[in-house]
Amino acid sequence: MAKLSENVICVTCPKGCTLIVTRDGETVIDVENGCKRGKDYAQQELIDPRRMVASSVRLKGGLHPLLPVYTSVPFPKPRIPELLALLRKIEISTPVTLDQIVLENVLDTGINIHASREMKVVTG
Ligand code: SF4
Repeated sequence: MAKLSENVICVTCPKGCTLIVTRDGETVIDVENGCKRGKDYAQQELIDPRRMVASSVRLKGGLHPLLPVYTSVPFPKPRIPELLALLRKIEISTPVTLDQIVLENVLDTGINIHASREMKVVTG
């Protein structure tokens, strides 16, 4: 297979390096402009791109109608729309503690969804 070179922006840390990735199919041969983590990111991006996801679910009995949530680890990028559609259907009740698991093993990925903040019961 022919070798290809392309620019890939690494999102692993805030520096956001533009990596020059040379690959043969799905195998990374060389990465310029990045650190070791950037090289790992380039390989991962080729075979199984993932992103951290932050979103919200509906909340009953709290100060706010929505609860912010996040994925425990980066989530498979092609399945993010499916995840967001599922989260739109979810409603949970207060009280909620910070980092509480809201959904376990979401969409059979082995990834959990956690609460980004605490929400107390609001009475009256
Ligand atoms: S290549 Fe390294 S320094 Fe650059 S954005 Fe990625 S992790 Fe950060």
